[in-house]
Amino acid sequence: SVATRDVHLAFGRNQVLRGIDLEVGRGETACVIGPSGSGKSTLLRTINRLLEPDQGDILLDGVSVLDQDPDALRQRIGMVFQQFNLFPHMTVLRNVTLALRQLKRLSRDEATELALHHLDVVGLRHKADARPGRLSGGQQQRVAIARALAMSPRVMLFDEATSALDPELVKGVLSLMADLAAQGMTMVVVTHEMGFARQVADQVVFMDRGRVVEAGPPAELFEAPRSGRLQQFLSQVL
Ligand code: ATP
Ligand code: MG
Repeated sequence: SVATRDVHLAFGRNQVLRGIDLEVGRGETACVIGPSGSGKSTLLRTINRLLEPDQGDILLDGVSVLDQDPDALRQRIGMVFQQFNLFPHMTVLRNVTLALRQLKRLSRDEATELALHHLDVVGLRHKADARPGRLSGGQQQRVAIARALAMSPRVMLFDEATSALDPELVKGVLSLMADLAAQGMTMVVVTHEMGFARQVADQVVFMDRGRVVEAGPPAELFEAPRSGRLQQFLSQVL
């Protein structure tokens, strides 16, 4: 499970997170929606300690992450970004084995076996020897997901994982994410894909100006939004 407790964060005088409380149970998927600049990416980056909150706490399986070693923590929290951040000069396989070798200290054979298994899961085992530049955006994103999964994370964070993709490639990545959710991965997904949020999320979290304005089951938020701000947001995106 992942939880944030009254998390505050400012960039200079810009208060970007103003007391975020989030509770994502084990095996649940939370979709975070909200306007540009509302603090969604900042929240994800705070959860895996790319940023430090000014106040509040972040719990992974009930234990505060704030006094854990960030490198060890990032082995347990997988993150997938809009830009896939693959190393262009390495093969797909090397991209996936790198952290297994360097952080998990697996042998070459163990790392290769595990990487090939996860490339299989995302349907790209046959691309193991290719360089990322030879893959479509959707395939590159699936490699990035395989790379994160190979670390056996407790939680996966997705920050607009499909926003940089051509429309015809979005579906494959979303269905992979839906499979992961169905298999019981705990996930926090920042997305503009309202159809995905509606179908896959256990909980939808609407953020605006650094606050959680509404959170609850998708049926509630989409069919019966209570706040004017969510109503307005939905009228713009649906
Ligand atoms: P989008 O939907 O456009 O991705 P978002 O909800 O993810 O938006 P954030 O990226 O979290 O929004 O940004 C929230 C606010 O924090 C914005 O005002 C942004 O300018 C500011 N901000 C984000 N990152 C930094 C940074 N590294 N330094 C200074 N300000 C930042
Ligand atoms: Mg963002």
